[in-house]
Amino acid sequence: MVTDASPSEFSEREIWNYLSEVHDPEVPVLTVIDLGIVRKVQIINDSLKVVITPTYSGCPAMNTIEEDIIAKLKEKGVSNFTVETVLAPAWTTEWMSDEGKTKLKEFGIAPPQSGSKGSGRPEACPNCGSKETKLKSEFGSTACKALYICLECKEPFDYFKCH
Ligand SMILES: [Zn+2]
Repeated sequence: MVTDASPSEFSEREIWNYLSEVHDPEVPVLTVIDLGIVRKVQIINDSLKVVITPTYSGCPAMNTIEEDIIAKLKEKGVSNFTVETVLAPAWTTEWMSDEGKTKLKEFGIAPPQSGSKGSGRPEACPNCGSKETKLKSEFGSTACKALYICLECKEPFDYFKCH
């Protein structure tokens, strides 16, 4: 039998490492750390608090993410923890790590372009790198993405919408 260890036996760094094994159910190449969903990991006395901010309110994946985080911590033998959802400040694509953006691109999804005015357009086609792209549909495979088509290679691709 595995004995549950209280959070004081773990370091916050270890908890961050565990959480980096939790993936986004919609874009499995991204972890919750890449997305910037995990805002805070705090060990106070004997209890661990994990604060998360959903990427999109109403995004059905968020419930799954919370459950996955809970399951991961339990799997690592952490007990006595709470996962708190904080809605403000709202998540923005700025919180996504550069590593996360690179992974998205390799996965064939154009990463969000924040830009000075938050222009919600992909910088380039993730397939061929062409800047000639056209919006095909505001909603791609999920509500979080828009569907674009590349005018160069004619391939459609998802753009992770910026907000
Ligand atoms: Zn292309």
